Amino acid sequence: MTFPSNNLGTALSIAVRMQKAMKPSSWSSDYGLLCLKLKIIAVFAIFAPQWGLLWQQPMVSGNETLHAPKLWVLNTMSSLLATSSFRLAIVYAVTCLIAMAGLIIISIIRSNAIRGALVFALAICCAFEYSMLDLTHEFSEREKIKMFWEERDLARAMVGFYAAYIYPDVLYSAVLSLIFFLPLPERFCLSKRWALVPLLGVGLATAEIVYTRGIIEAFPLPTGLSANLLSAFLPVGGGWSWIERSGYEFMSGLKAERDFLFPAPVGKTIDHIIMIMDESVRGDYLSVNNYTVDDTPRLKTDTSLINFGVAVSGANCSVFSRVMFRFGMREGDVENWQQAINKPSIWDYAKHGGYHAIYIDTWRSPFNYGNGFTPAESQKIDKKISVLDDPSYLRDEKVVNVIKQTLEAGANEKIFLYVDKFGVHSPYYDKYPREKTIFTPEGSALIDISRAHYANAIAWSVDNFFARLKNVLSMDRTLLIYTSDHGQTLSDSLPLSHCSNGVDQKTVSGEGYVPLFAKTNDEGFGKLLRHTASEGNNHFSHFEIFPTLLLAMGYEYKWVKERYGDSLLDIPASGKKRAFYAGSPTRTRLISTD
Ligand SMILES: [Zn+2]
Repeated sequence: MTFPSNNLGTALSIAVRMQKAMKPSSWSSDYGLLCLKLKIIAVFAIFAPQWGLLWQQPMVSGNETLHAPKLWVLNTMSSLLATSSFRLAIVYAVTCLIAMAGLIIISIIRSNAIRGALVFALAICCAFEYSMLDLTHEFSEREKIKMFWEERDLARAMVGFYAAYIYPDVLYSAVLSLIFFLPLPERFCLSKRWALVPLLGVGLATAEIVYTRGIIEAFPLPTGLSANLLSAFLPVGGGWSWIERSGYEFMSGLKAERDFLFPAPVGKTIDHIIMIMDESVRGDYLSVNNYTVDDTPRLKTDTSLINFGVAVSGANCSVFSRVMFRFGMREGDVENWQQAINKPSIWDYAKHGGYHAIYIDTWRSPFNYGNGFTPAESQKIDKKISVLDDPSYLRDEKVVNVIKQTLEAGANEKIFLYVDKFGVHSPYYDKYPREKTIFTPEGSALIDISRAHYANAIAWSVDNFFARLKNVLSMDRTLLIYTSDHGQTLSDSLPLSHCSNGVDQKTVSGEGYVPLFAKTNDEGFGKLLRHTASEGNNHFSHFEIFPTLLLAMGYEYKWVKERYGDSLLDIPASGKKRAFYAGSPTRTRLISTD
């Protein structure tokens, strides 16, 4: 293809004029000053959405209006000072200052190419962070980045669905970035070597996130998002777990045809069954299970509690453990994963037993399923209720009311209610309100700080939750079973909080230790559970819960036992050894705990 010569000439002359226009020397000093002023305004304007000064709307929850946490960086600083982490506070303050200096430097680097590249990264970070604030009313910490990565297949649909929110954010980010890119007269510029400052900021911030395992993850834009992204993709230091992703992706291979032949329930049923799956609650870190820090005082004095003691989860990673649980998998099934996920799930049994299947999710929006939910499961769910309050530690409190309302609305129905509770996933410092701090660190080591935060989070998320639930919930015709998806390492020397693979990453028993208790007013069921709980205390696992739910739904004892083994109605065989899976369904290792 050839251009007509006159058109080619026009194109060339436009290119030459553009090249001249990009040369700051051809500008008047007034224009240069105007650009400089615009850049100063832009530096402040970058933070305007984070301060709630623009259109990004606060989240309305009930009668409350919740704003994005405006003082994110200062919150982190005050948290570090409150826990006497002075050295960390100084390093953090210096990093934030370097990050701010880096932001200013990006806009005044002489080289168009280097300034352009840095501004491009800035534009992407700002657009992402503003959209995140608009949609979730929170900043983008690693958990969210992970969630978005897991749900990346839905990206196009999400952008389309939320276009009205996202496009203005992208536009605002683009305008700011253009101002950042405007060339300046020589005298205002810095050489390209200064580009190392913003890069140093990102490097330092990433190192702090990894070193503190997410206790610190708030930094000014664009350093914060870049560092969170980097640390999330690093397979070290409590960073994003590749294991969890592979577990999630292993869900493919599901058969579309899922007609199961199993007998209808024959026995007496319990009308309201509530299964609560908590997040990252380690069983032996609850004072109700004799932990020395009294983080569950109200559970300890709750006489209606049928406590099975410290149990062992199916696996040490959220998705892996939860999928195993919902499909009633046991030891041995994991090796035949494809076969196991094509068996009936708890939802199939609930529906077949005539239960209204309701799912309360504190992680995902109503049209979005996480935790390895397969389409075969979501199709069986009659109603999904999302509780996504902000700040996120309010979600479990809200769940109490949602459970109450759901059961009251279905008073005359049979209801199976499954709750994916929000819990205390790392980092722990933001899993409870600051004013509810009860425990302070015993020393200044990171592990002391983590344990204090963890105990506060447990007191808030577990003890407070059940005290409130007890006040509002009638246990009449109701069975409640509570456990957590996995435990935690809570160790000074191990980089991951959970999800270690047991092969090249050490796995400790604590990753599999979970709480397990039940509540019911059903006399027969309650009596049996109390008996086994006292006889077999500290000898149960996740594997006994699934068959217990089936028995409560009325499925026949012998039939259930043949397929799923012992339930919580059976006293564990003496000498029984418990173990949980570490790793992913594709690469597992069984970790023995007894
Ligand atoms: Zn988890």
